[in-house]
Amino acid sequence: MKKIFFLSIITLLTLFECKPKETINKKPKLVVGIVIDQMRYDYLTRYADRYGKDGFNRILNNGFSLENAHYNYIPTYTAVGHASIFTGTTPSNHGIISNNWYDKLLKKSIYCVDDNNYKTVGNKGVYGQKSPSRLYTTTIADQLHLSQNMQGKTIGISIKDRSAILPVGHTANAAYWYDGDDYNTFVSSTFYMKNLPKWVKDFNENNKADEYLNQPWETLYDIKTYTQSRSDNNIFEGKIRGQESPTFPKDIKNLREKNGNFSLIKTIPAGNTFTADFAKATIIGENLGKSEYTDLLTVSFSSTDYIGHRYGVAAIETEDTYLRLDKDLAGFFQFLDTQVGKDNYTLFLTADHAAVHAPSYLQSLKIPAHYLDIKKFRAFILETTKKYYNSTELIENVSNYQIFLDKDKIESLGLNLNNVAQKLADEVMNFNGVYKAVTARTLQTTTFTDGIMNSLQNGYNQKFSGDVFMVPYPATLISGRKGTSHGSGYSYDTHVPIIFYGNGIKKGRSSNKYEIIDIAPTISNLLQIEAPNGTSGKVIEEALKK
Ligand code: ZN
Ligand code: ZN
Repeated sequence: MKKIFFLSIITLLTLFECKPKETINKKPKLVVGIVIDQMRYDYLTRYADRYGKDGFNRILNNGFSLENAHYNYIPTYTAVGHASIFTGTTPSNHGIISNNWYDKLLKKSIYCVDDNNYKTVGNKGVYGQKSPSRLYTTTIADQLHLSQNMQGKTIGISIKDRSAILPVGHTANAAYWYDGDDYNTFVSSTFYMKNLPKWVKDFNENNKADEYLNQPWETLYDIKTYTQSRSDNNIFEGKIRGQESPTFPKDIKNLREKNGNFSLIKTIPAGNTFTADFAKATIIGENLGKSEYTDLLTVSFSSTDYIGHRYGVAAIETEDTYLRLDKDLAGFFQFLDTQVGKDNYTLFLTADHAAVHAPSYLQSLKIPAHYLDIKKFRAFILETTKKYYNSTELIENVSNYQIFLDKDKIESLGLNLNNVAQKLADEVMNFNGVYKAVTARTLQTTTFTDGIMNSLQNGYNQKFSGDVFMVPYPATLISGRKGTSHGSGYSYDTHVPIIFYGNGIKKGRSSNKYEIIDIAPTISNLLQIEAPNGTSGKVIEEALKK
């Protein structure tokens, strides 16, 4: 009797001793990287009282939130953001210098993930001719695969092609993005597979998009309660084509025809719900989080960006979109609990860039804000080369606030490239709207350690970038007096949420300054794998249980 009692005590003690050790050492079975396209940090605080307890607030209160996390390069665009989050480095290393840019070698403008070597999988269209071939470094997903001898699954999904492809990188099992118009299909590329898996075909045939598009977009709550936003009808917001005014309710069903039929779902909150539906279908269809290996899923919610572009920062539409997204997230987290298990997953949530308040709106409040006329700017540059070098053929391309010079032409005229570039950098300062200008040579020979010039340098890729770089005034956009955009190195574009949650993550928050490139090394450290091969970020120690 005594012996049995003694043994039971030992067993109990062993149990108690082993349990905490197990939870600390156990790797997550699934890592989920969530990117909310164009989400400003202050959308967490601005609408805080309106969020439920199971969405944003659940991971804020039980995870680790970085309150002062920023992008550290220019330009803050979607492709660049997604690449930087998952590679842990900046365009200077990973090579994705914008969404579209002028390819110096091909001598034409290209789109970040276009690749004619591959075909669409899922329909007869061309929207699947994509690959991550312009991304020059590895992602967390690639490193996870290498560390597990290519076991475990890594999958990227989004409505946008670039937001599905770039996060998972080169060795992904799959990436899926949404082809709207009359297709209404999540597609992929032959880069990944020959045929869609049955569960994707089933999802496509299920035709959930149609169901969503047949409902009007009305505010989730009484419109009078949207006190964080401007009045519904104002001059700073765009309209869905066919609408008389930018107001609620929006008769989505009857607006489909004029707005690319199924493509309209991308630009309404239902696009996020639809993305969450597909994320859940992916986890079930691929059995993610169920094997002995760690799987990785990236989910990018893109409708927030289309909506932000159309209506801007202070719109009821934007507030309503985030309140609805909060519910979609609550449902997704709940799904992860039951499907994968509460302690079995780690997730992080961030954004690919933020956004500025519409300059026209800021101007109405007497805050300095500007529109730069790109046509006049191009003409000004040509006038300058004509004036100093008697030629209008020295410029190959002007895009993304960069000038690409024609090196052959400059040489044939007996001119010196660096001198021409410096002359242009000096002269463009006379164009109203240009606030700073610098040459590529200066970026190659000077180290800027902080501020806007450091961001410019991190965005500069010696192989792919232009010869002269400009920075506009704060709160400047090139076009669009309605809605808004992004792309600068100013804090309204760089300040985004980073929230870690789940297995291996501490509870807490920090106002220390972090950079977006710190996410990948932190997740790599948590998984005890090598960080992506171009990583220049650091491990966010205070967020991790050790
Ligand atoms: Zn974006
Ligand atoms: Zn955008």
